[in-house]
Amino acid sequence: MIPSIEILIPKNLNEVLGILSNQDKNFKIIAGGTDVVTGLKQESNRFINTEVLVDINRIAEVKGIEKRNGKISIGAASTFTEIYTNPIVSSELPILKKAVATIGSLQIRNRATIAGNFVNNAPCADTVTALLVYNATIEIESTNSKREISLQEFLQGPYKTQLKKDEIVTRINIPVPPKTFVGDFYKLGRRQAVAISRITFAVLMELNGNKINEIKIAAGAVTPIGTRFPELEKYAAGKEANNDFIKSLASKLGEEIIKLTGLRWSSEYKLPVVQQMFYQMLKRITKK
Ligand SMILES: Cc1cc2nc3c(=O)[nH]c(=O)nc-3n(C[C@H](O)[C@H](O)[C@H](O)COP(=O)(O)OP(=O)(O)OC[C@H]3O[C@@H](n4cnc5c(N)ncnc54)[C@H](O)[C@@H]3O)c2cc1C
Repeated sequence: MIPSIEILIPKNLNEVLGILSNQDKNFKIIAGGTDVVTGLKQESNRFINTEVLVDINRIAEVKGIEKRNGKISIGAASTFTEIYTNPIVSSELPILKKAVATIGSLQIRNRATIAGNFVNNAPCADTVTALLVYNATIEIESTNSKREISLQEFLQGPYKTQLKKDEIVTRINIPVPPKTFVGDFYKLGRRQAVAISRITFAVLMELNGNKINEIKIAAGAVTPIGTRFPELEKYAAGKEANNDFIKSLASKLGEEIIKLTGLRWSSEYKLPVVQQMFYQMLKRITKK
């Protein structure tokens, strides 16, 4: 049974911060509620002690998408539909646009928010790989502090982040990627819609003719949390993006993933799939 819980609906960020600074009760922020409500219904350990929900949907400071000082700033409580239909995201962040399009169903995308996705930090959270290749940073506030850190640093493990009890994520900032960068997002689920990811990849790269100037690679769902691969990125920089090389890069990504997860009963099946799907994705990006 879903527990009976008090809900507060503050009107501005200061009110939210004031509520969260009260250490006497267990508060939980609710945005779209697509993870919170499911968690409460399932009596999940992560939500069971919640005494008061703090609804942030009316807080202007965590809404809106704008471009300023070479960055795109996305309000933490932007829904996936708002992100998908935003012209700045469409022209500057196609990998994020493609990632949000794969999430749940239209009804879920109309409610679910971007910060809710990475604060929940399920291994299969679909926006994480896209945000990682874009070098996203996040702004976090409490009554007595304001900090901005990289998303990778914020994510600590499956369903674990650096967020403290009195903090809220307010905005996600992404440096505008130069137009010379190309990339893609890939999700493999059991169905086309309302499917939990089995594999996600995001790649953002700059090619100079056939040479890879720079590449950013992230994988999710097959790793404990969404993760970048800095060693692989270094190895690939400066190399010719010919068929043999992208095949070897895909093969190495599979090996890196096994290093992170260890060999499992499913590895025999998953490893060749990961390698083949990543190879196909690189072929599409480099038009091989
Ligand atoms: C049917 C269904 C299908 C789904 N399909 C997918 C899918 O395909 N891909 C996918 O990735 N996910 C999927 N999800 C999961 C879910 O929709 C996403 O994780 C969603 O992005 C969560 O956002 P929300 O606004 O609903 O978060 P909420 O449920 O409101 O909150 C989630 C967590 O984030 C915290 N939180 C929210 N906003 C903030 C903030 N600004 N600052 C600090 N903490 C915050 C909350 O306290 C809570 O711990 C699905 C869920 C359902 C029910």
